[in-house]
Amino acid sequence: MIRRVQTLRATLVLVLCLVLFVSTLSSQQKPTPEAVRLVGAMLADTPLEEDLQELVDEIGGRPTGSKANLASVEWGLKKFQEAGVKATKEAFEMPRAWQERSSRALVGGDVSFPVRVVAMPFSPGTSAEGITAPLVNIGHGTVEDFERVGPSARGAILFVNTDPLLDIDGLFKEYAESAEIEKRAAIAGVKGIVYMGSRSGVTLHRHNASLGEKNTMPMASMAREHALRIARLLEEGKKLTLTLVLDINDGGPYESYNVIGEITGSVMPNEIVVMGAHLDSWDLGTGANDNGCNVAMMIDIARQMSALGLKPKRTIRFVLWNGEEQGMIGSWKYTVRHRSEMANHVLAGSVDIGSGRIIGFFTNGRPELVGEVDRALQAVAGLGPFMQIDEPVVGTDNYDFMLQGVANIVANHEPANYGPSYHAESDNYDKVNLPQLRSNAAIIAAVVWHFANTDTVVPRQSKEQVQQLIDNTSLRQQMDMFDMYPAWADGSRGWK
Ligand SMILES: [Zn+2]
Repeated sequence: MIRRVQTLRATLVLVLCLVLFVSTLSSQQKPTPEAVRLVGAMLADTPLEEDLQELVDEIGGRPTGSKANLASVEWGLKKFQEAGVKATKEAFEMPRAWQERSSRALVGGDVSFPVRVVAMPFSPGTSAEGITAPLVNIGHGTVEDFERVGPSARGAILFVNTDPLLDIDGLFKEYAESAEIEKRAAIAGVKGIVYMGSRSGVTLHRHNASLGEKNTMPMASMAREHALRIARLLEEGKKLTLTLVLDINDGGPYESYNVIGEITGSVMPNEIVVMGAHLDSWDLGTGANDNGCNVAMMIDIARQMSALGLKPKRTIRFVLWNGEEQGMIGSWKYTVRHRSEMANHVLAGSVDIGSGRIIGFFTNGRPELVGEVDRALQAVAGLGPFMQIDEPVVGTDNYDFMLQGVANIVANHEPANYGPSYHAESDNYDKVNLPQLRSNAAIIAAVVWHFANTDTVVPRQSKEQVQQLIDNTSLRQQMDMFDMYPAWADGSRGWK
């Protein structure tokens, strides 16, 4: 009840800010009456929070390939249908099934104690007795660290120290470093890798190893408090071993589904604006900030457009992507299935960085998009300020649209509490900033509406232009970090 009152008060403040700002906009391009109505409806009372709570508390964590994930697909379909929006599920093939049944670990040698671990995604399982090997402290796993430990890394389980994860920058550092560590570890001939958890206390987290489904090395993440104890003991010169028992359900390809809610365009039905959020999550927590909150947002925007009877000129597809956490597979397969329509895609947007305030958009190396996004945001100027960053981002469902040359954006958020719970046991409903989620929903609604109606279209890039984008920006480096360049280079992923 208290939550409701607070939400209502926050909403009133937001609406007030908006009205004040709109009234000073006369010198600039004025938002259309439809945009103003839509934004107003998004900021008013809608079932956004109830939807989110159903998805995360009742269905729960939903890694692609799990029963809960299939339940979430049916849930998404039903929600779009109840909103009066045409809804379909599109099947696609996931390359490799992977689910952890259980993981445990025991420190032995000079001191013996159990520690909490989880398997890293796509880590192979072990026998029932597990693997046992000396623990070698590899520090942060730099080149110098590997030189320092020398041949003692061979046949050992590497113990990697980490810094606490605070924000998106820390996250990218974590991904970038682990990619390099894994390469060095493979050359050094290690038996396995254990990462010190980067979330506080004994909160476990799980996310992709850099090689994704191609990984063949046993890898685990260990509760930080337990790992810090090991670090101190190794520092004192104690000799420790680790026994790692990973029980994994590892299988071949299987079918998964994206869920699409579509509002057909009234003037240019063949031109398409995609706005999406991924439905799948990791399973330790319930995927609330990553990315249930923005799934609920997509459904809410579609619902309000439908309730207001708004008729966009272009077709809008609200897509709940699947397979994102396991290599952004669902959005990739969408671009393959809809290849003949790619040239008609006017924009592909992704919302995937939690529920902190949206402070602008990544325009992914397309400077001509910046002004258009600025204009889109005039309808929600009171919720700003906003600033666009024209840098490519790899790591969510804009990626394959970028490789197809389609104009694409990713919402950029204040970090809020995204980092500390990222892919962790603590990513639950109570961590979502609900008033901010509502205001973010109004921002995304304004952007979708603008691109579905604007006269200015940012044309698709040629394959050569995409190659230039890769060569001339940080895109190549990011693709290398996720081991994704080879698929572009051999033509299996991206422009054909
Ligand atoms: Zn995500």
